[in-house]
Amino acid sequence: MSYVDEVYEGLKAKHPHEPEFLEAAKRILESLDPIVSKNEDVYRKNALLERFVEPERIITFRVPWTDDKGVNHINLGYRVQFNSAIGPYKGGLRFHPSVNQSILKFLGMEQILKNSLTSLPIGGGKGGADFDPHGKSDAEVMRFCQSFMTELYKYIGKDTDVPAGDIGVGGREVGYLYGQYKRLTGLYEGVLTGKGLTFGGSLARPEATGYGLVYITDEVVKGAGKELKGKTIVVSGSGNVAQYAIQKAEELGAKVVTCSDSNGYIYDPNGINFEVLCQIKQVERARIKEYAKRVPGSEYHEGERPWGVKCDIALPCATQNEVNGEDAKKLIDNGCWCVCEGANMPSDEAAIDTYLAAKILYMPAKAANAGGVAVSALEMSQNSERLSWSFEEVDSKLHDIMVNIYKSVSETAKKYGYENNFVVGANIAGFEKVATAMLAQGLV
Ligand code: GLU
Repeated sequence: MSYVDEVYEGLKAKHPHEPEFLEAAKRILESLDPIVSKNEDVYRKNALLERFVEPERIITFRVPWTDDKGVNHINLGYRVQFNSAIGPYKGGLRFHPSVNQSILKFLGMEQILKNSLTSLPIGGGKGGADFDPHGKSDAEVMRFCQSFMTELYKYIGKDTDVPAGDIGVGGREVGYLYGQYKRLTGLYEGVLTGKGLTFGGSLARPEATGYGLVYITDEVVKGAGKELKGKTIVVSGSGNVAQYAIQKAEELGAKVVTCSDSNGYIYDPNGINFEVLCQIKQVERARIKEYAKRVPGSEYHEGERPWGVKCDIALPCATQNEVNGEDAKKLIDNGCWCVCEGANMPSDEAAIDTYLAAKILYMPAKAANAGGVAVSALEMSQNSERLSWSFEEVDSKLHDIMVNIYKSVSETAKKYGYENNFVVGANIAGFEKVATAMLAQGLV
């Protein structure tokens, strides 16, 4: 049995109830085989992979809160502090009913590699709660965030662990969490990123994941000798990532014809209108079907996802496993030749196999959506020096980071004999730096 298989079998035996994590770990370990087999003796001697797959620490706690009617509720809160070899734990908090330890471990492992790819000094972490902010009043969300932070504050800090947003945690939640941290500790420090601009947030952080996704897509497309201008793009989702991906793609001359929410998708043959989208999602916090009522010529498709729409490029920006094998086939049959992921792991295993077998260009999430966490790390730098950089400065650094990620992913893939396989390239490029740091720091 290979070292990679041995480690995976051990993991399966220890965590049989964590299917999402096991699946992600298996895929990552498999794609690391080319680098692991080259360094097997050293890695084995240092139990490197055994350490890489186990979080340094997982904190679980209950979160009691009272709703507006006076009814009490208990949710589960988590922080997975996965790997601090190259910097303080860094990664978002997700508030969603599906949150559990298995999902957070899978997202945390992805985050280690993603953060490493940014080339900034940030380790990997992830956290959240099985709380659903949808349909809750502002006051309920605030009480929940305050209760969550009343436990979490003991374990985080600007140099130890710096959470941020993820699904269900946006600017509003980060604000409430930050307020409670400050109240409990008396510290005004960059303990969270994605903060409001008036209290230490970075310009271009809200735009960063979506813009970064389009910057790297542009590189992928150029790498294939084509250009983004004039291409038709299908986007899923309508949240933060989707919104700014749409804006940037349109600015660069592409036409984005779809966006969606969990109820259905919008098709707009004239290109999604960014202003209308933001009014509906950011101001009114309404469902995406509203778009079709306001924009003549657009259509709303209830209960469907946009993968059957003819396009050159697909940018899945909604959530994990939103593209399955059949969807991937549909995309390819309809002319799609490039998929870059804005959401975390939106393509399931069968979808990825379909892209790779068809040899279309596929940039996985950990590389393609790293722009968000990269600008979070830039927010940490600004907080440390107590300065704020201009939008242009942050945006241009983001652009450079995404170009570098593309270079390092594609060059690494080539170096290990997997030219154009960006899955192998991203995993190995991300892992190499973490592994080197872990080896240098001894058995910890
Ligand atoms: N949740 C985002 C991600 O998946 C951002 C994390 C951060 O900014 O720390 O990368």
